[in-house]
Amino acid sequence: AVSLQQTPQRQGETNRGRGAGLQARAGAAAVPPRSGHTGGPPSAHLRWPQSRVGTARSGRGHGTHGGPAAPSSLLRAVARRELLPHGGGGARLRREGESPLPSSFPAASFAGFSLCPGTTCLFPEDWGRCDLKRAPKSIPFFIAFIVLEFAVSWVQQHKLPGRINDGISSLSLGILSRLPDVLFRSVDLVSYIYVWNNYKLFELPWDSPWTWYLTFLGVDFAYYWFHRISHEVNILWAAHQVHHSSEDYNLFTALRQSFLQRYTSWMFNLPMALFIPPSVFAVHLQFNLLYQFWIHTEVVTNIGPLEWILNTPSHHRVHHGRNPYCIDKNYGGTLIIWDRIFGTFEAEDAKVVYGLTHPVNSFEPILLQLRPLAHIWNTFWATPGFWNKLSVIFKGPGWGPGKPRLGLPEEIPAVTGNEVPFNPSVPVYLNCYAVVHFAVVMELYIDLLATVTTLSQENILLRIGIIILSLTSFGFLMENRQDIKHVFFSSLILHF
Ligand SMILES: [Zn+2]
Ligand SMILES: [Zn+2]
Repeated sequence: AVSLQQTPQRQGETNRGRGAGLQARAGAAAVPPRSGHTGGPPSAHLRWPQSRVGTARSGRGHGTHGGPAAPSSLLRAVARRELLPHGGGGARLRREGESPLPSSFPAASFAGFSLCPGTTCLFPEDWGRCDLKRAPKSIPFFIAFIVLEFAVSWVQQHKLPGRINDGISSLSLGILSRLPDVLFRSVDLVSYIYVWNNYKLFELPWDSPWTWYLTFLGVDFAYYWFHRISHEVNILWAAHQVHHSSEDYNLFTALRQSFLQRYTSWMFNLPMALFIPPSVFAVHLQFNLLYQFWIHTEVVTNIGPLEWILNTPSHHRVHHGRNPYCIDKNYGGTLIIWDRIFGTFEAEDAKVVYGLTHPVNSFEPILLQLRPLAHIWNTFWATPGFWNKLSVIFKGPGWGPGKPRLGLPEEIPAVTGNEVPFNPSVPVYLNCYAVVHFAVVMELYIDLLATVTTLSQENILLRIGIIILSLTSFGFLMENRQDIKHVFFSSLILHF
């Protein structure tokens, strides 16, 4: 179990580690411990000094820690919730007596879609006392950027950056990917804190700028390898491919995520838990994934010299391409330097055709999430030999008996640039209906996140059922399938 209460022992340690600079801050270190501490050894539980709380709440002056202020002041501002869209300065997060949050840890692992109420609770000391009435703050941020992308695309190219069917499909997959937050704690943070509590080798000072730099690089480095392995190992690709299943490339695509991916990504961050405090890690994980939202756009062509260092819309367009030159390239999260170092970088060249090499041709969210697992299952049993069966699971998605680990490059289907995306014809009135009904389901989803701890288990499961059935019915609707009425009426029955 993770204890969120501070101990005097821990306070003393932390204060020593930070030196005299801390003493100047708001007298925070003098705040007495709460009465519930057990006085156990510091390494037995995660315990947070009250002084951090004071700094996060009231430390308005940047650079008071005595080190260089500028770069870390940005992250400190993020830490104080002044910059993150779901944060907001002065957030009322710590009222005594507020309901605990038993089932939703902070979704710092929001994978580009941080709509969980826990995202307002970035720091461990907040996790037990989130203001559950606060609506998720990332949604206005996403909407504002999406509106901006539509406006710029219209002005630049006199066309919209996406389609209704693909956009609803991406948002449906995004919602589906976050539903586990309603029921389970974040595996990223639970596993990280477990390693921190039990196997920590040493503790870097949370407020040193060098810890911030190192964590920034560490999180991005871990993301690079997680992402690369997700493309090179078939069973991990089965989860990650959801993000690549759109044949459009826009900000909706950024929100198209797998609900299984969280169970494959957590292990790549664990080495950092040996020495980097969880609060610092959580900030950077959030920052890293938030950054990746804006690069999913065609309206930004090139950002000059920064293309050398940062992962940019141009680099990430290549990553989403199914042209042979795009396959298994540009895995970076925030930085592109890892691709340049490890030989996976490719600059944008010929017109990129987006999506999977073998398109799924569906808008049905459950099918898009799970179909690759069925494919692996069938291939596993159809492939002769024990080692070959293991290779089906652990080698690349293009592997087959007698082929190299990542398959044969010549088997990647060529593209002409004239490929037509999956786009069934649907009457205008049905498109309008789908948009309105989707907005209603979105509201239901936001309300579920905001009130989850006040609802009974049955109520939560019922609402999840309504959301999944509704999203499935949108998929059927966008495909103009005749069996839509079965799913639609099931959803209606659950509504009542
Ligand atoms: Zn990818
Ligand atoms: Zn992407």
